Amino acid sequence: MSHSDKRFSFEFFPPKTEAGHAKLEKTWADLNALNPAFFSCTYGAGGSTRDNTFGVIKQMREQGISIAPHLSFGGDDEAAMTELLDSYKALGVDRIVALRGDIPSGMGAAKIVYANELVEFIRNHSGDHFELEVAAYPEIHPESKSYDADIHYFKQKLDAGANAAITQYFFNPDAYFQFIDACTKAGINKPIYPGIMPITNFTNLARFSAHCGAEIPRWIKYKIENCGDDQEAVIETGKEIVIRLSEQLLAGGAPGIHFYTMNQVEPSKAIYQAIV
Ligand code: FAD
Repeated sequence: MSHSDKRFSFEFFPPKTEAGHAKLEKTWADLNALNPAFFSCTYGAGGSTRDNTFGVIKQMREQGISIAPHLSFGGDDEAAMTELLDSYKALGVDRIVALRGDIPSGMGAAKIVYANELVEFIRNHSGDHFELEVAAYPEIHPESKSYDADIHYFKQKLDAGANAAITQYFFNPDAYFQFIDACTKAGINKPIYPGIMPITNFTNLARFSAHCGAEIPRWIKYKIENCGDDQEAVIETGKEIVIRLSEQLLAGGAPGIHFYTMNQVEPSKAIYQAIV
């Protein structure tokens, strides 16, 4: 079934080195040929990548590419935040992914600004200029007190004026469908786009998943382990698993897919081409 009418987007992180930046320029040029709805670029915990993120956004905007910066208050004050918002607007940015962000160790509790407060702040300062995306957690945010509390706070940030949400990655489609049901019951009717993480390196994936609360089903672990040191087999097996997941999500009504590309063209491109 064709899914060309759905929304597809690709996420990057801002590189720290010149070589990383050169690779990313090539990645966005290749992926842009697929005509995605937009790209997005992450923001380091506590604003630690502010300049790198801004640099990527500026360069992509100069090439006329639709790119959404991720944004969180981090340690910034309101003046710094309004300046950044105005700079993004001047560059022609029309979409922002608004987050509380991960809290770096050592940052005082007084600095925490939840995503709903950031959404409210952006709406107060920039009106309706930006489309605002927020984060969603089908497997529930790791700091959440309960499933219902997480849905409550998720609704709060959408009600504050966000237009849509992008999920943390997950490998179990039921987690997404259950979450959509719970959201619908709670009166949430804005689009929730699944975020998809291609599988390329199991050790890194397992480490990151433990940190962000994404569950890796046993059968996936065993299938990937079965590939041993054969990196090509890992990538092929990972691709099959993620294509199947993406197809299930789209067939079940997901409004599109957001790819966590890890700054690589493949396997996101291959997965995209298999499902669109
Ligand atoms: P919030 O929605 O503010 O929620 C954080 C936690 O607090 C949840 O447990 C929630 O239930 C609870 N909560 C929410 N509001 C309140 C409230 N008002 N009072 C009390 N409790 C509340 N991290 C980065 O550092 N940089 C990025 O660029 C980045 N991009 C991401 C993109 C996507 C699509 C996703 C899914 C995640 C991203 N993250 C990023 C990770 C994210 O920053 C972390 O998961 C972070 O811990 C939570 O951010 P949030 O915006 O979801 O927080």
